[in-house]
Amino acid sequence: MRENTAYELTAGEVKRQSRRVRLKPINREQMMLRPVEVERLVAEDHEVRGIWEFVGRVDLSQYYEEIEVVEGEAGRPAMDPRLMISLWVYAYSKGISSAREISRLCEYDPAYQWLTGLEAINYHTLSDFRVEHKEGLDELFMQILGLLSAEGLISLERVMHDGSKIKACASADTFRREEKIRAHLEAAREQVEQMGDPRWAEEVSPRVAKARQRAVREKQQRLEMALQELEKVRGSKSGREAKEQARVSMTDPEARVMKQPDGGYAPSYNVQISTDAKEKVIVGIGVSQSGSDYGELVPGVDRVEANVRQEPGQVVVDGGFTSRDNILAMSERGVDLIGSMGTGTSQSAGQMKRRGVDPGFYPEAFHYDAVSDTYLCPAGKILRADGEEKRPGRTNYKYRACARDCRRCSFRQKCCPQNGPRSIVRGVDAPEVAAFIAKMETHEAKKIYGQRGAVAEFPNAWIKEKIGLRQFRLRGLVKVGMEALWAALTYNIKQWIRLCWRPQWA
Ligand code: SF4
Repeated sequence: MRENTAYELTAGEVKRQSRRVRLKPINREQMMLRPVEVERLVAEDHEVRGIWEFVGRVDLSQYYEEIEVVEGEAGRPAMDPRLMISLWVYAYSKGISSAREISRLCEYDPAYQWLTGLEAINYHTLSDFRVEHKEGLDELFMQILGLLSAEGLISLERVMHDGSKIKACASADTFRREEKIRAHLEAAREQVEQMGDPRWAEEVSPRVAKARQRAVREKQQRLEMALQELEKVRGSKSGREAKEQARVSMTDPEARVMKQPDGGYAPSYNVQISTDAKEKVIVGIGVSQSGSDYGELVPGVDRVEANVRQEPGQVVVDGGFTSRDNILAMSERGVDLIGSMGTGTSQSAGQMKRRGVDPGFYPEAFHYDAVSDTYLCPAGKILRADGEEKRPGRTNYKYRACARDCRRCSFRQKCCPQNGPRSIVRGVDAPEVAAFIAKMETHEAKKIYGQRGAVAEFPNAWIKEKIGLRQFRLRGLVKVGMEALWAALTYNIKQWIRLCWRPQWA
C-alpha cells in the first residue's frame, strides 16, 4: 500500500482522501505591522558588528573633508563614509561585488539593514563611492595596516610575495587591430556630433537621452585610449609583422592577454600580493599589465614600504621573480631574498639541442684551464678568449675555437652543425648572485622556501574563493587596482575579526 506523506499529497489528492486533514492556512491577503528592533536584527557576535567596529577605529577625515553638505545649510545629507565602507567590506566578504545587489540586500537582509538602520541606499551612490576616492582608499588601507600592526598581527620579518592573473571585464573577442578600432572610433565621433542635433533626443525621455549621451562619450574615450594602448603593445613586440598584428580590447583597452593557470589565455590583469608571514595579513597589493612576474618584485617591495613605512626583512618568492636583477636589487636594499632559481648557464641543454649539437659535445665536454684562460675541446684543440658581455649580476666570457681546426675536424657535424667555429660561454655570477645561490643550497633557506606556498597562496585563494574575485567587475588599470584594494582590505579586516575581535557581550 502506498504511504501517504505530507510531501506526496497534492491538493486534489487531499480532497479525495476519506479522512480530511487540517492544514495551517497561508494568508497572503493580510496586511501586518511588525515592530523591528534594529539592534537585534543581527546576533551580538555577528561579523557585521566587527566590521562596523573596526571601520569606526579608522580616521576617515579624508572622506569627511570631501563632503560638501554641512549642518545649517541647504542640501541632502550625505551618506556616512563609515557606513559606505562597512557596506562594501561586508558585501565583498560575502562574495558580492555588485552595487545593485547590495542596494537590493539593504531592503531585506538583516545584516545590511542593521548597518543602514533600515535606510534604502541607491546603487549609484554605492557604485560611485567604490571608485571615487582613490587616495582615500589608499589611505584607508594604510591605516588598516597600522591598526593591525598595533595589534601585533604584522612583523614584516618575512613577507611572501606572489602574483596571480585575474580576468579582466572584457572578452577575447573584443580585441581588434588598429583598422577596426579607427572605424569604430570614427562611428563614435559621428554619434557624438549627432548628439548636438535636438532631434536626436526627441524620441526618448531626457533621462534616457542623458544616459545615452554619456554612453557614447565613454565609448569614444575608450576607443581613443585603445589606440594609445595599441602603441604600447606594439612597443613591447619585436618584428614588423608582430607589431602590425597587435590588438587591444575595445571594452577594456588596458587589459592584456595573459596565460592562465589552466594553460589557456584570457584578457587579464596581473595582481601582485605581498603577505606578511606572521598572521597572513596582506601588506601590499598592486595590479600590473605585465604577464611576467620578473619586473614586479621591486614595485611590490616599494608598496610594502610605502604602506607600512618599513622595509621587509626577508622576501620569499617563486622562480617567476628570481632573476639576477632582482637578487641585486634586494641585496642593495638590504632585503634578504629567498627564492628558487635554475642553474642559469649561458648555454643550456635546450639551446644546444635547438642548435643540433650532439650531447657528447655540450659545454660540459669542454675542459676549462683557469691558468691559461682557455678551453680544451673533445678533439684536443684550444678555444681562446673572445670577448665578454656584462649583464646585471653576471658576466659572460666567450671562447672561440680556431676556424681552421673546426673546418678540418671529423666531429664538426656533431659539435657545430650550424655555423663554425665552435664557441663556448663561461658565465661568472656577481658575488651577490653567487652568495644567493649558495644560500639557497642550505637546509634553512630550503625550509623557509617550503613555507612560501601555504602563506602566499592563502590570501590569493581567499580572494578568489570567498570574495569571488575571479574576474574584475570594473575596467581600466586604476579602477581594477581599487577593486583589488577593496578585496585586500576586506581580507585584512576579516583576519582581524578572526584573530582579535571579541564581541562586546563576550
Ligand atoms: S669542431 Fe672544433 S671545437 Fe668541436 S671538437 Fe672539432 S675542433 Fe673541437
